[in-house]
This record gives sequence, structure tokens and C-alpha cells, in this order.
Amino acid sequence: MTKCAIVTGAARGIGLATTDLFLKEGWQVAMLDRDGEELAKVAGERQNVLPVVRDVSNPQDVNAMVRETLDWSGRIDALVNNAGVAEFGPVADHDFTMWRRVMETNLDGVFLCTQACAEALKETRGAVLNIASISGLRASTLRVAYGTSKAAVIQLTKQFAAEFGEYGIRVNCVAPGPVKTKLSMAVHSPEIIKAYHDAIPLNRYGSEDELAQVIVFLCSEKASYVTGQIVAVDGGFESTGVGLP
Ligand code: NAD
Repeated sequence: MTKCAIVTGAARGIGLATTDLFLKEGWQVAMLDRDGEELAKVAGERQNVLPVVRDVSNPQDVNAMVRETLDWSGRIDALVNNAGVAEFGPVADHDFTMWRRVMETNLDGVFLCTQACAEALKETRGAVLNIASISGLRASTLRVAYGTSKAAVIQLTKQFAAEFGEYGIRVNCVAPGPVKTKLSMAVHSPEIIKAYHDAIPLNRYGSEDELAQVIVFLCSEKASYVTGQIVAVDGGFESTGVGLP
């Protein structure tokens, strides 16, 4: 029996590295992304993957993703809610459209995908892994929408873990520190990059693979007694009180 993971936001960055590690460990992966062009390219270079061009914030898309995955693999053993967007700015610059854009993907998407996969995950006693951020653990300027959406993902993790435990479904959360991806490089100014280097005990950004190692571990049987946990994979940032601009 081959296990099947759904990874959202799988076309690049942390989602793509997570896909590759699942594949290396013998899983099949349904790669969901709304960027059809980038997804077709990376999925075409891999075996045992199903490219699913869908938007996590659209309920019809999410239901179709579950149907397409079950038609393909017959099972869902893990759901990695990784798709995310980041928009930074002072509170005054957060117009309501921007606020909603961030919430729709980062928060609504996690709720919709988890709800839609729940029945299939009960069958396998599977796992959900949500990607939050250190910005959801600690407040800093410029991140009122992003940080709030990620704090809500942390609470969603605990809510789902409490409710799904009786079905053997484990729900955990990884809170990444900074990783050089398209998402972070669009919002990290040189000032923010320097501040992270100074504030992180390991004095560097993480890599996509360093995140993937923890994500895949928490989805695996090796973590069979771990649920409702928030794991900061951040070079020690959260353990210090050093602030950011
Ligand atoms: P990325 O931009 O490299 O990749 C994100 C992927 O998600 C893209 O392929 C994008 O097309 C897809 N996506 C975005 N919105 C979507 C939607 N509504 N439906 C379907 N697909 C969608 O980003 P990344 O840095 O790899 O980030 C992955 C996750 O990690 C995000 O949730 C992000 O908030 C979180 N995170 C990243 C960092 C960092 O420094 N890179 C730090 C903390 C948390």
C-alpha cells in the first residue's frame, strides 16, 4: 500500500521541498497549486505525483481536489496545508481587499482543506500538518494581516487536534522562521533580512529542506503520539526575545 499526501502550494518553495521528501520516502503526492504553469513544469519532472490546479480558498475547488485525489490514489494519509501568501505594510496601508486576500488563502484555505479531507483521513487515521509562521507566535510591525492569519492557523491546529483525536487523526503545526523563497523575498527588506540574521541564534535563514524534514516527520508514524503541537523551525528565534523592525 502506497501512502498519499496532499501538499498545497506545492509548485515551489517549502511545498515543493516537502513534496520531494515525501516522494523520497515512497509516498504518492497530490500537488495542489493555483499557479498552473509553474505546477505543470515541476510535476512534469516528477513521478508518482498528481498535479491539481486549484485554489485553496475556493470551496468548490477544494472539494474537487479531494475527489480528484481519491480517484487517483484511493486514500489520503496526510494533508499539508502549506499554501500561503504574505503582504506586509503598516496598518494604514492594509486596505480591506488586502486583508481579505491574506485571510482567504492563509486562514480560510486551511479550514476548507482540512474540513474537506476529514472523512478520508478518518479512514486512514491520517495526519494534518499546518504551516503557520513565527509571525503567528510573536507580533512585530508590518504584519497585522499576515501575523493574525498565522496566529489563527495555530488556534485552528489545536481545535482540529481536539476534535479529530477520537478518529486517530493527528493535527500539528510547523511555524517556520525565515526561509529564502519567492514569498519572503518579496516582503523582506534589506533591513528585515539583517534583523533576522542578528536575532536568530543560528544567525541565518533556514532552507526549504530543513522545513520539509520536520513536516514529513510530523506526518509520519514516527510521530504517532504527537498531536496539537506547534513546532517552531526557526534557528532559535522564538526562544529569544529579540525584536524585529
Ligand atoms: P512560495 O511563495 O514560494 O510558495 C507558495 C505557493 O503557494 C506558491 O506556489 C503559490 O502559487 C501557492 N499558493 C498561494 N496561494 C494559493 C492559493 N490560494 N491556492 C493554491 N495555491 C496557492 O512560499 P513559501 O515561502 O514556500 O511559503 C510556504 C508557506 O510557508 C506559506 O504558508 C508561508 O506563509 C509559510 N512561511 C514561509 C516563510 C518564509 O520565510 N518563506 C516563513 C514563515 C512561514
